[in-house]
This record gives sequence, C-alpha cells and structure tokens, in this order.
Amino acid sequence: MHQMTLAEIARGLADKKFSSEELTKVLLTRITQLDPQLNSFISLTEELALEQAKAADARRANGESGALLGAPIAHKDLFCTQGIRTSCGSKMLDNFKAPYDATVVAKLAAAGAVTLGKTNMDEFAMGSANESSWYGAVKNPWNLEHVPGGSSGGSAAAVAARLLPAATATDTGGSIRQPAAFTNLTGLKPTYGRVSRWGMIAYASSLDQGGPLARTAEDCAILLQGMAGFDPNDSTSIDEPVPDYAAGLNGSLQGLRIGVPKEYFGAGLDPRIAELIHNSVQELQKLGAVIKEISLPNMQHAIPAYYVIAPAEASSNLSRFDGVRFGHRCADPKNLEDLYKRSRGEGFGAEVQRRIMVGAYALSAGYYDAYYLKAQKIRRLVKNDFMAAFNEVDIILGPTTPNPAWKLGAKNSDPVAAYLEDVYTITANLAGLPGLSMPAGFVDGLPVGVQLLAPYFQEGRLLNVAHQYQLNTDWHTRTPTGF
Ligand code: GLN
Repeated sequence: MHQMTLAEIARGLADKKFSSEELTKVLLTRITQLDPQLNSFISLTEELALEQAKAADARRANGESGALLGAPIAHKDLFCTQGIRTSCGSKMLDNFKAPYDATVVAKLAAAGAVTLGKTNMDEFAMGSANESSWYGAVKNPWNLEHVPGGSSGGSAAAVAARLLPAATATDTGGSIRQPAAFTNLTGLKPTYGRVSRWGMIAYASSLDQGGPLARTAEDCAILLQGMAGFDPNDSTSIDEPVPDYAAGLNGSLQGLRIGVPKEYFGAGLDPRIAELIHNSVQELQKLGAVIKEISLPNMQHAIPAYYVIAPAEASSNLSRFDGVRFGHRCADPKNLEDLYKRSRGEGFGAEVQRRIMVGAYALSAGYYDAYYLKAQKIRRLVKNDFMAAFNEVDIILGPTTPNPAWKLGAKNSDPVAAYLEDVYTITANLAGLPGLSMPAGFVDGLPVGVQLLAPYFQEGRLLNVAHQYQLNTDWHTRTPTGF
C-alpha cells in the first residue's frame, strides 16, 4: 500500500479498493516503525489524520470525488496549523501552537487531504542539509550517513522512504528542488505569487514560495492543484487563473526548445552529474525536443546577492521573535534588554544568529548601498538574463546541484561551502521563476536531479515535460533499500 503514488491512491479510493482510514492507519504505523531512523517528522497528528480520513471516506460515500479527497500528506513545519505545534525547526517556536491554518493548509484540508503530521526542517528554513533543526538532523533514506538536503529535508526523506506519497515544502533558494534531487523525488517551486504565503512562517519574503514534493510529476500536479491560487490575505499573491495541471500532462515535446546554459557546466560540477544531465538531454531529444546552448552571464553573482538579500529579509522577519510578542522567553529576565538578549540567544541556533547578524549589517546605514542595494541590482541582472534566454527557448535545463548529498556533518564547520551548493537553484528565486527537479540517475548509490526552469506561470509546461520524461525513464520509480 505504501508504494502507491497520489494518482494511484486516488484511483484506488475511487474504485473502493481501500478506504482513506485504512490507508492512513497503514502509513501511521509505518511512520512509527521507520521514522526513528530518519527523524523526518517533528510532530505526528494521528488523531487529526484519522478524523480527516473518516470525513473523506464519508464525503466519497456521499458521491464526492477529487484527487486529494482522502489522500495522506504532511506539511513542512513552517505552515501554520491551528492548535498544532508549528515549530519552524526552532527552539524559539517549540511551544507555539498556531491560532489559525495557513492558506495552503486550509485549501488542502478543504480538498480532503489527510494531514499525518508536520515534517522536520532546517531552523527557519535556513540551510541545505537539514542539520540546523533544533529537533536534530534528518537522514537520507538512500544512505543514512548522508544528508537529505534542506531545508525541506523532513518532507523529502519521508516521501522518499514511502512513509507517505507527498508533502508540502517551501523553496527560498532551492529548498524544494535540492532535497528532491538528493532523495530521488520530483519537486516544484512555483512562480513567486502562485501559492499563498499567508500562514507560512517567513524566512525571506521576496523569495519564499510553497510547493509540492512527491515522487512523480503527475503527483506534483495533483498537490499543486490543491495549493495554488489567488489569496487576498497575501499581498504578493497573483490573481491568475489556475490551469488544470493534470489535464495538461499529455503535451507532445515535438519542437520544444530546451536551452542548456553553458555556465551550468563549469568548474565545481561533479563530472558524473554532468554526464547524467547530458543523458537526460538526449532522452528529451528522442522525444522531439530541440537543444540549444544558451548563456546566463550573471549567474556567478547570484550566490553573493542571495546571501545578502535573504539574510537581510530574515533579520527583519525574525525581529518579531523577542520573547514578548512571539517565541521562547528566557527565565528570570533582569530587565528588557536582558530579556531580548537571552531569549533570542537561547531560542535561535547558530546558523540563524549568523544570518540575522549578516542581514542587520547589510541593511545598516553605512553599508546599505554597498551590499543590499548592490545585491538588488544583481537580482535585476539575473532576471534580465532569464528574460533574454526565454526569448529563444521554452525551457532551461541543467543540474539541480553540483554534487550529490554529502555526509552528515561534512559542511558544518564551513557555512560558505554549503552556500556554494545552492549555485543552480537560487537564480530562479531571485527572478521569481518556476523550477522543477526530477530524478536523473545515481552517483555512488545517491540520487541526482535534473532541473527545469520555465517562464512565469508555466508550471504546467514544467510538469508536462517532467511527466513525458518519466513515462520514458524509470529513475523516479527506484526505492531506497530498507524502505
Ligand atoms: N540553502 C538556502 C539557504 O540556506 C535555501 C534555503 C531555502 O530554500 N529555504 O538559504
């Protein structure tokens, strides 16, 4: 039962092969048995899950249908869930029970999805390894000595280990696509504004975007359908009609123009990954796509720009966690300053503190022009590069990451080494473009992802290309041993 995709579950429920309650019980037992090895969940919501499953079964018995009606999922622990701990992977919010549901949570619940729990994540979504969580590191089911990627590492590890078919995640600089690549999943970061950020705890507001993590493009289409849409509560949400993503999965790739940026294959890329990416290009060529070399000349400036802009926004967003309005409060404060200092010093981990300091520095009066303003100018250049490229091609293709998943602890003493691993993913966030990562093979038994980028609001195009690729390859069907 646990091997089923969301699409297969929807068919099985419609054909009355099993009930949502039965499936939910099987998966909850599986999580209890297997998750201690992975640490992919921060909270399990058994009671809520069984209640939602029974309600979904009743709705189906009354003649309702829908791909998500009775489908088990989990939410990254930065989506607010009413009455349930929403920790953001931080001691700061360990005792925070959200007073309302995030729009994404409410929409999926209304569609009948069943919430099994809240998944582990890097603290405040800062990281690429899921090692900065206050609840401990998450392990990669493909090799328990390696990281699953981050910051949505809990969602990725849980789905890859078949503890559930799909989960929500967020991507500020790659946190959906990179863990998808590291765990052999398909993950989609939508266009900025496609999915509501209301009730999604903010890391860097101009970059954050929620999206689906699943095993197949077809399942990402199903989950995105439930997440996407205009939300008047989010001032950056865009009022664009949401297409029927599943219905769009039958497009021919004949004549599709795929751009391969030459800058993506420079120094730093593992040559074995380069070879797998070339294989995926050939596969798409066989399906009719036309390949063109393109250039994204400002890509080299993207990491420094991102690591100024993201911490700057974070330093502002995280100022609300002061032990008064929100978050952990230290014991016996002597005065207000002591309260702030100790509450924030105790509540935030090292990586979060580092970024708050970098961000506050970059925004300070004497340095704003030199760092923040300059980074914003680079952001525009990165966007312009993409706009020029999309005049010539329909899709941009490259590796998702320069290396496969590293060993736990390998980059802990050198934060910049971890930042450099985001080189291929953060440009899409700076430009606000949609991006998808899908399985493309293995290196030393560890999964490798290929990334596809498309123009604004062309999530459907990404999902269709990935689906056609998955109809003709079987990388995405591989299961990690032991799961
Ligand atoms: N690795 C990037 C960072 O640490 C991206 C994280 C994310 O997308 N949430 O900021």
